[in-house]
Amino acid sequence: MHTDLSGLKFTMTVGGLPLDGQSAFDVVNPATGTVIAAAPDCSREQLDQAVSAARQAFSAWARRSVAERQRFLLVMADAIDAHTDLLSHLVTLEQGKPRAVADTEVAGLSYWLRETARMELPETVNQDDAERYSVTRHVPVGVVAAITPWNYPIGQASFKLGPALLAGNTVVLKPSAFTPLANLKLGEILRDVLPAGVLNVITGTGGLGSWVTAHSGVDKISFTGSTQTGRRVMAGAADSLTRITLELGGNDPAIVLPDVDVRTVAPQLFWAAFANTGQICLAIKRLYLHADIYDEMAAELAELARTVVVGDPAREDVQLGPVSNLRQYETVLELLRDSRDDGHTFLAGGLPTAGTPGYFVAPTLIDNPPEDARIVREEQFGPVLPLLKYTDIDDAVARANASEYGLGASVWSADADAAFRVAEQLQAGTVWVNEVMHLHPQVPFGGRKQSGIGVESGLAGLLEFTEPQTLIIKRTV
Ligand code: NAD
Repeated sequence: MHTDLSGLKFTMTVGGLPLDGQSAFDVVNPATGTVIAAAPDCSREQLDQAVSAARQAFSAWARRSVAERQRFLLVMADAIDAHTDLLSHLVTLEQGKPRAVADTEVAGLSYWLRETARMELPETVNQDDAERYSVTRHVPVGVVAAITPWNYPIGQASFKLGPALLAGNTVVLKPSAFTPLANLKLGEILRDVLPAGVLNVITGTGGLGSWVTAHSGVDKISFTGSTQTGRRVMAGAADSLTRITLELGGNDPAIVLPDVDVRTVAPQLFWAAFANTGQICLAIKRLYLHADIYDEMAAELAELARTVVVGDPAREDVQLGPVSNLRQYETVLELLRDSRDDGHTFLAGGLPTAGTPGYFVAPTLIDNPPEDARIVREEQFGPVLPLLKYTDIDDAVARANASEYGLGASVWSADADAAFRVAEQLQAGTVWVNEVMHLHPQVPFGGRKQSGIGVESGLAGLLEFTEPQTLIIKRTV
């Protein structure tokens, strides 16, 4: 894979035109720790420009029929498919995931657009008689700010763009400053596809996220990121009562019943925890294993952790890349140090050797730490997994639920009915049996408790980008 980006220029997209930042910031390849490109740093005035471009484009876009907007989504999907190679190359370089995983991520955007293009906005006739006609429909909110994290730079945009645009909104997309490049190219690719101002892409460091959140010209914030930032977004939105959808952090438990076939299930659990180097909101973050299978499962997982190929995703054989940025690397190291200092046993992995280039952490398994350990209570969002022993299923459920998070959860068993009865007791937005992370454009997902407010995808996710409006005609005078 070539890593030279010198032939590429990265500009924001505002009002259908390229826009340079008034300054620029460095983008780092996490596999090497070296700077690979400069991205535009959006100023406050340029944010005003982007919001006003979106505002100007709004009425014409909202007036188009849903069928017209569906067709635009399909053309967007074709344009993205024509640039998969470039987009996934950028995702790999700036985010650090293997190329095959980046390919799937980019393909997911066009898939999500095509599936969203099949959706309709429902209308409910409340009354239709001699006296009165009353209908409730769903109208667009206006200018949507889409704020996304770095773990899936394109994937996270795909949950927002199709539904926001189909519903008739215009969008200002602000990706993470750690991974701006693929989104900037996406804006460029779509410049000729969408009417000017319908999709604006801005990037920046420092206060840009909070400026967007508090901007009086933004009508709706669709935010994906940490719970901590989510609280700030909610506070920032309060002044203008800006509508919000918050997709936040998770600390997903998996409960494994004693009847599983350990050798079959171990690789599934391993990848459910460590795919994308553990940086998935819906990855398994706490693994509750029944005491009868604990030792055997731990041994299988440790063997997988030791043999999986970790390295620079520029190499084709690599299965797990680095932690995606220095800030997250420090967070993961801090949790590992805390575990070490508390005397936990590492069954595989552990703290990396100091001085090696890139932000690499080997897949790490921690042997039955106490329930109140930081590595159990906090979202690690990296390649570290605590294995937790239980004997009583009610106790496992209580421990799994004893978290401020409630994003996803899973139960694993040879007996799907038994697993389902446990699944029903778990406090999470989505609970899977014998898998995790399966998402579908027509199925809503979101977090309970401090994992979020509102949902993405499905009809419910589409309606998050609308407001209900009831029209009533009195027929009798
Ligand atoms: P983050 O909260 O640090 O940043 C997310 C986005 O918010 C970035 O674009 C960032 O620039 C922006 N931002 C920062 N400060 C802001 C502010 N004050 N106002 C508005 N925007 C601001 O999160 P991250 O480190 O990029 O991502 C990791 C987190 O995201 C994890 O907690 C993970 O669980 C969560 N996540 C959740 C989901 C989900 O669907 N629930 C999906 C992926 C990631």
